[in-house]
Amino acid sequence: MKIPESNRTTIKAIVQHYEDNQGDAFRAHLGGSIIGRPCDRALWYTFRWCSDVKHGGQLLRLFQTGHLAEERFVSDLRNVGIKVFETDPATGKQFRVSACNGHFGGSFDGVGQGFIEAPKTWHLIEMKTHNEKSFNNLVKKGVQEAKPEHFIQMQVYMYLADPQLTRAFYIAVNKNTDELYGERVRLDPVIGKAVVEKADCIIASDRPLSKISEDPSWYLCKFCDYHAICHGQETPAVNCRTCMHSTPVENGEWHCARHDMAIPDSVQKSGCELHLYNPYLLEQFAEPIDSGEFWIRYRLKSAAEEFVTGTDKGQLSSQEIQAVEDKSLLTDEKLAGLKTQFDGTIQNNQ
Ligand code: SF4
Ligand code: SF4
Repeated sequence: MKIPESNRTTIKAIVQHYEDNQGDAFRAHLGGSIIGRPCDRALWYTFRWCSDVKHGGQLLRLFQTGHLAEERFVSDLRNVGIKVFETDPATGKQFRVSACNGHFGGSFDGVGQGFIEAPKTWHLIEMKTHNEKSFNNLVKKGVQEAKPEHFIQMQVYMYLADPQLTRAFYIAVNKNTDELYGERVRLDPVIGKAVVEKADCIIASDRPLSKISEDPSWYLCKFCDYHAICHGQETPAVNCRTCMHSTPVENGEWHCARHDMAIPDSVQKSGCELHLYNPYLLEQFAEPIDSGEFWIRYRLKSAAEEFVTGTDKGQLSSQEIQAVEDKSLLTDEKLAGLKTQFDGTIQNNQ
């Protein structure tokens, strides 16, 4: 007979462990592994750290399954005589590529030589795991059509590798059956160059790029991590990349115009008390109508009422704007009165 389950089980504890240890979603650079995604606006939100996206434990474990498979792929390739390097002999670290002043880049799984199809040619190696449906589609259509994100990732890595690589070997496994799939991919420098230009546009833009769809129920939008910010009224996370004073500069660094200094990595994720939202990030619910030194006056789109954000008394801080879910409260006189009377701040304790 099955023993009745308590609320706290071993499996739940394992899943929770993954969730508790996932860290934050903020990556220093725009990654080559995601640049092939179809919505430029979502990529801009990612680069600008608009949301600390959290994943469930099961999905995190699935990501780990992909990483664990790499060791076996390498061993399978070596067993048939292919020379595989997982790290760059010059640095002892993973092979890395970088462009756009250090704000775009990524690391690839390895390089190899001795593939039976072209024994002398060095290949970039990309290793991926697939579920049954995705794998069957891959076998039927090939990587360019079935997994354009992976195809673009390989193109830009080959294009930026030093020395440039002209071929990639894509090795994939069906997680249900362990069936393997391999495909050689030829470098198309036109695609590689276009991808770097796309990354440049995203990095250089001081505002969100066009939406892939204006319809919030469109399938890509429905499953997008930024749906509530893009189509709703959720305010992005408070950190240096959502602050109007920050700009990406050389060497992968960010500059703060307010403090007139390079922003230390340790500060970027939390920002400072002088954070002022990039006005384009509030455009879903408010439009800027006036501004002065370190303050901006907005008009709510829903009620034509006004509020001022800044760091002086009586102004709303970025943290307070983020804390308020119902944006009509930003112009609520009673709330403003309480804030003044108790010299308090608005917080969301949920
Ligand atoms: S919700 Fe849609 S339009 Fe907005 S960022 Fe996501 S995919 Fe792009
Ligand atoms: S003002 Fe503060 S939050 Fe804004 S960019 Fe400078 S250091 Fe970051």
